[in-house]
Amino acid sequence: MSRKAMLNAITEIDNNVNMDIYTNEVREIVKELPPVTPIHKVGYWDKTGGSFRCSECMHMPEFRDIRTLKYCSNCGTEMKGAENG
Ligand SMILES: [Zn+2]
Repeated sequence: MSRKAMLNAITEIDNNVNMDIYTNEVREIVKELPPVTPIHKVGYWDKTGGSFRCSECMHMPEFRDIRTLKYCSNCGTEMKGAENG
């Protein structure tokens, strides 16, 4: 999980239960965490029911021309599979 995703998740907690006293501290800790070493994954855009989704995380990009999307915007998988464009 990226720092940005973590910070977004913390903000979501803030919005739901109003716990700023605690989450602000957690937020500072997250900002100091070392960067994640990404695991390189290769997948493809799976065409199911007329729409494309990531073969790894099932994310459906809003962007229509998936041939120009080289990576899944949700999980970062590189799209190289047979069904990709
Ligand atoms: Zn994905």
